[in-house]
Amino acid sequence: MLCMFIHQIPSFIPALLPRFMWSKPADRQIFLTFDDGPTPEITDFVLECLNEYDAKATFFCIGKNVVENPSIIQRIQAGGHSIGNHTMNHCNAWKMDFAAYVEDFQKCEKVFAHQHIKSIGFRPPYGRITRKIYKEMNNVILWSVLTGDYNASLTPTAILESVLPLLKPGAIVVMHDSIKAFPHLQVILPAILRYCKEQNLVLSSL
Ligand SMILES: [Zn+2]
Repeated sequence: MLCMFIHQIPSFIPALLPRFMWSKPADRQIFLTFDDGPTPEITDFVLECLNEYDAKATFFCIGKNVVENPSIIQRIQAGGHSIGNHTMNHCNAWKMDFAAYVEDFQKCEKVFAHQHIKSIGFRPPYGRITRKIYKEMNNVILWSVLTGDYNASLTPTAILESVLPLLKPGAIVVMHDSIKAFPHLQVILPAILRYCKEQNLVLSSL
């Protein structure tokens, strides 16, 4: 059976939902993002890789993980990277009402305020969006390229074959500094960084 994973967001979706950020106009910049951390050891692996390539990136953090790992947050900030809100408990917008969803988002905002984290925006977990999220939430940042690093049915080689050609100026690329994604992440991240440097792309935070 042929398994297909869609790595690139079809262009009609951003056209239908222009209030969200899907990519960012740029001459040479590309925007790597890491969701679901901070995670002990794994986020530090990411930070070391980024540092090696003088790359800046954006981390969409789960509030609960921020509470548990304040020292990792300090290292993200010290590295000059950006941080965004990914809810307190990685909420699924399709499985809860909007009021509860916003309350969980606000909890994450409070954690950020307490730890002096300036949020650059909100990324809905799983990319699951609703009409209310679209109409009522601000600075929502999705992506144009999904690596699928969490998907055990893909191989790192297959991911790189599909994803490297999509790494163009202005792309917002999703990876995960999570335990689930790490087997793939540890292979694809160094390769993606190397490729971006070879292509003269400037690895930037949002
Ligand atoms: Zn997530």
